[in-house]
Amino acid sequence: MKTNIKAILLTGITVGVMACQNQSTNNESGAISSPVTTVQSVPPLVEKILSAEEQAALTPDEVITLFKKGNKRFINNDLTSRNHSAQVRQSAKAQYPKAIVLSCVDSRVPVEDVFDRGIGDIFVARVAGNFINEDILGSMEFACKVSGSKLILVMGHEHCGAVKAAIDDVKLGNITPMLAKIKPAVALSEYSGERSSANQEFVHQVCEKNVEYNIAQIRNGSPVLKEMQDKGEIKIVGAIYDMDTGVVSFMGY
Ligand SMILES: [Zn+2]
Repeated sequence: MKTNIKAILLTGITVGVMACQNQSTNNESGAISSPVTTVQSVPPLVEKILSAEEQAALTPDEVITLFKKGNKRFINNDLTSRNHSAQVRQSAKAQYPKAIVLSCVDSRVPVEDVFDRGIGDIFVARVAGNFINEDILGSMEFACKVSGSKLILVMGHEHCGAVKAAIDDVKLGNITPMLAKIKPAVALSEYSGERSSANQEFVHQVCEKNVEYNIAQIRNGSPVLKEMQDKGEIKIVGAIYDMDTGVVSFMGY
């Protein structure tokens, strides 16, 4: 019922929330079929997208702060209500995203929602195990050097199947060479206990090592991004998404 009420609110219709609780529904969408007695105004949907001036005025630290605030709203089930149609139209001719996020493909990691970001807000690169390669480095250079983004965020996550498969040395088709990109993180871990995917503590440590390793690889593999970072134009940071809670923990921030 709560979800259905929210869906109705998002359409901009005013409804009586108290009254709704006692109303019956008669269709699949949960639309309210009988009149309501009290009225509550609904804030307008956010239509604005980030402008070139707003992007230019942002610092990398401010973007990190915005991400942390957005993640709090995500955790509290308080995502910003956006008019996607209006944002699509406004962003059609140009984009000024504040960051690029490198994430795993995992379906349980909805990157834009995790930071409460809308259309035109962030670039997202995704590959199982969130590792970099030449194409993703090029994408990051496009995001930062060409499009003005201020932050590169490499975000791993708990319970990552790709990390677990790399630990277990899984071999299957093109998954084999893909996992080879994650294995350096397994080797970098000095964990002395049980080094198997059944050990959550070890998986967590490899997940963190994988993020750290790929941040180093970004600096090593891209003189363009390294120079931007050295000048303070961008920051390259890591984070881990906890899918049990929705919390993103920034590493070192
Ligand atoms: Zn994953």
